[in-house]
Amino acid sequence: MKCCQGDTFSDGELQRFGNIELSPSAGILNYGQGLFEGLKAYRKQDGSILLFRPEENALRLRSGAERLCMPSPTIEQFLEAVKYTVLANERWIPPAVYASPVGNYFKEGLSPINLIVETNMHRASPGGTGGVKTVGNYAAVLKAQTEAKSKGYSDVLYLDSVHNKYVEEVSSCNVFVVKQNKICTPAIKGTILPGITRKSIIDIARGLGFQVEEGAVTVDELLEADEVFCTGTAVVVSPVGSITYLDQRVTYGKGGTGPVAQQLYSALTSLQMGVTGDKMDWIVRLN
Ligand code: PMP
Repeated sequence: MKCCQGDTFSDGELQRFGNIELSPSAGILNYGQGLFEGLKAYRKQDGSILLFRPEENALRLRSGAERLCMPSPTIEQFLEAVKYTVLANERWIPPAVYASPVGNYFKEGLSPINLIVETNMHRASPGGTGGVKTVGNYAAVLKAQTEAKSKGYSDVLYLDSVHNKYVEEVSSCNVFVVKQNKICTPAIKGTILPGITRKSIIDIARGLGFQVEEGAVTVDELLEADEVFCTGTAVVVSPVGSITYLDQRVTYGKGGTGPVAQQLYSALTSLQMGVTGDKMDWIVRLN
């Protein structure tokens, strides 16, 4: 499928997890016309299963589909497919939705991660597709990620492709810097993914009384920060222990988890796991 005209999204059905058939001329294989989403379901001790803001994933998928000329499910179709897939722990087609247990994204678990700033390769450029969750964005940085990991870094932090000095994001998460208790994160301008965790952490932090600013963050501000942390569905809130930029390596708070990241991690996870009340109505209970 190369364009969405005339194509519609149809209802799917549950199937055992397995390979799917694709035409050799499929748009995803030839043009990178592919989108995906990732969301976590949490099982509470009482057996209930909770999803965190799944409508946001549906909306992001829909905006990505619009950008890539693809048909997209309605919010209701998306939620229904996710619900049935999670409850059955199976796979829903078309398009594929599958459920799988997940562990910590970084091998460090909740310990601080070590990042390297990439100065040659970029994941997105203005006017491109960096703001949607399309497969090509990940292809663009596989080389940078592989090289960083082979040198022992947890992941890569990317800069903007125009000035090569503004912080964008990490391969699978958004970035926050803390200076004198003020929290800053790069603004959403089409080149970074509008993370659902990012958006939630901004609201949670403001609710806890922090001043939070969305704007330009330079690599110098990053290196001079008191604390840096990343946010994402997979990484939750991950403290950054050190950042390497060119020949310089900066360590934050003696390499331990900073107090702001710790506080926000606790607030977010207790909400996601149904331990604290859901005042913002972000939790969808499946059973
Ligand atoms: N940036 C990128 C490039 C990502 O792949 C992700 C993971 N979806 C994020 C940021 C964080 O987004 P979210 O909080 O919605 O998981």
